[in-house]
Amino acid sequence: MSPPEKGRTSMPTLHGTNLTNVKEKNRALALRLISTGQSVSRANLARSMHLTKTTLGNIVSDLIANDVIREYTYSSTEADSSLGRKPIILDLSPNSPLIMGMLIKRNLLSGILADLKGRIIAQRDCRYDSLDQDTLIETLVQLYTQLRKGQNRKIVAIGISTLGPVDTKAQKLTTPVDFWGIHNLALSDIIRERTGLPTYIIHDSNAGALAEKIYGFHAHSDNLLYLHIMNGIGAGYIFQGNVYDGDFGQSGELGHTSINFAGPSCNCGNRGCLELYANIENMNRHIKELRAIYKGPTLLPKDQEFYSWSDIITAAAAMDFLAMAALDEFCGYLSYAVRNTIHLLDVSHIILGYDSPVETTVVEDTLTTKLNSGPMSNTGHVIEIVKSSFGGQAPLIGSIALVTDKIFNGELNIFEF
Ligand SMILES: [Zn+2]
Repeated sequence: MSPPEKGRTSMPTLHGTNLTNVKEKNRALALRLISTGQSVSRANLARSMHLTKTTLGNIVSDLIANDVIREYTYSSTEADSSLGRKPIILDLSPNSPLIMGMLIKRNLLSGILADLKGRIIAQRDCRYDSLDQDTLIETLVQLYTQLRKGQNRKIVAIGISTLGPVDTKAQKLTTPVDFWGIHNLALSDIIRERTGLPTYIIHDSNAGALAEKIYGFHAHSDNLLYLHIMNGIGAGYIFQGNVYDGDFGQSGELGHTSINFAGPSCNCGNRGCLELYANIENMNRHIKELRAIYKGPTLLPKDQEFYSWSDIITAAAAMDFLAMAALDEFCGYLSYAVRNTIHLLDVSHIILGYDSPVETTVVEDTLTTKLNSGPMSNTGHVIEIVKSSFGGQAPLIGSIALVTDKIFNGELNIFEF
């Protein structure tokens, strides 16, 4: 065996930490704990961060002096107030910095302004029927201009959540399938140049996963898989607390993993991709075929040409036979790809997100049954499948989480801007 090449060993990069870095890291961590509501009092912060009250006091003073946070008097009950128990809590200042988030979908561009808690304070959407590269850039810049107009608060950076594949190392949108012929677009560089703000991009499914990790109900899970289901099927993976995006940032294309190597060709060049089977057109085809032989009652109107995802899911939740059969087939296909993923990653927390809010849990329930009663049910581990905390907005909130994650890790210092 030949010795490893110089510079290509698996040795980690070693570097020291100076006192300035320590201070910045501590400040960033305090901001994370306050912004995500994990610690909101000085005493709790000092305990969580294993710092002395004096050191913590310096960090808090620094954040207050920069008008990022403020102290508020909090009273949970009238009795507390009457007894004079009014704890002081730390929360974001009304002047705290903002993040701009953008979401790129096949027929929709969205822009939002949000604070470090991920709370949206302004949103603009732009629907379109056709697009080219220049129009995409100009529309994103217009969204930026409209959202920042009249805004007095500092905007520190822009996060862009986009359909994939994305090369996060090169910060490029690479070769998206069926996306108006737009290829190899260095989005971050272009938007940074046009706005003067640090700009980052992320695959929309990874953005969904990051939103769940930072702001969702699943912040406690070190490993989680986020599946985004609608026109395509994408996966985002949180591995040991961080979003995992592979060597080139092109992970997460679950919809283009094959579940049938002898299946039809896909536009991506692969054969038998999951998306060719688990899609809304196939669900409609299945309903039509069953209707020819099924004579019982149904909630799906006979004269309707095409049933939307929402039509089918709503009817399936009400135990409609045709809708349940279509959903069962969809979840069956999906379960093959998810089971492969579970075998590979050994992940037990799975979150399903959609393009629009879904009231019922019929998809989660159907998939839970399939994954916990199939070939893996003898392992003794239960696969937990739940709905996203953000309705249909996880990838959009993820565009904000992309930036706040960098701020909370100390990678992006908001006091420099
Ligand atoms: Zn494919």
